[in-house]
Order: sequence, then C-alpha cells, then structure tokens
Amino acid sequence: MIRASCHCGAVCLEIAVPPTEVTECNCSICRRYGVLWAYYSPSQVRLVPAGVATDTYIWDDRSIAFHRCRTCGCVTHWAAIDPGRDRMGVNARLLDPEALARARVRHLDGAGTEEYVD
Ligand SMILES: [Zn+2]
Repeated sequence: MIRASCHCGAVCLEIAVPPTEVTECNCSICRRYGVLWAYYSPSQVRLVPAGVATDTYIWDDRSIAFHRCRTCGCVTHWAAIDPGRDRMGVNARLLDPEALARARVRHLDGAGTEEYVD
C-alpha cells in the first residue's frame, strides 16, 4: 500500500499497489494542472479521511470531476460521475518521489488523437 498526499496533508489517497506507469496528457486541462495520472479501479483506492470534502471542477461532457484539496489546492484525483465506471485517476505527483521514479512516464495526446505517442 502506498499513499498520495496533498501538500497540507488534509487529503490522502491510500492505493493498493504502486503504479508501474503514469500518464502525462497534453489536453487543455491536464497540461494546465501539470499532473501525472495513475489509473486505478476505485476499489483499489481509499480516500483518507473517508468522505473528506474536496472542491471539484467539472467541464466539457461532465463525465469526470477533478478533485482538489480545499486548503492547499493540490489536485488529488479525478473520479467518474457515473458510479458504475471502474476507473479513476490519482495524481501521481502526490506520491513519494521514490515511488514515482519507479514508474514509466507515458505521453498521451489527449489534445489530438487521444492515443499514446510512446
Ligand atoms: Zn491540502
């Protein structure tokens, strides 16, 4: 189990397994956030403390919500609006640098083809 924590520590995500790869996306939102996404099933991720309040941003087709800490502003994760969707993204920038260093960084052309370019 590993943890991803915002800067102030108010929001933590406990993750069952470290990511083997993370995604850097060039779409309009990801490039501004500067995040690296590690994708998981929500069943593998636990929000700590449970039910902690976050601020959210929802746009475009309203399929996912971007969550950020209400205190320090770090983007912590995105979650699907549809509770049946078995996928979420954790901001791998919030992991310990050692855990992130072991993951391969892949580049997603989210602004164009929606395909990985490497
Ligand atoms: Zn915080």
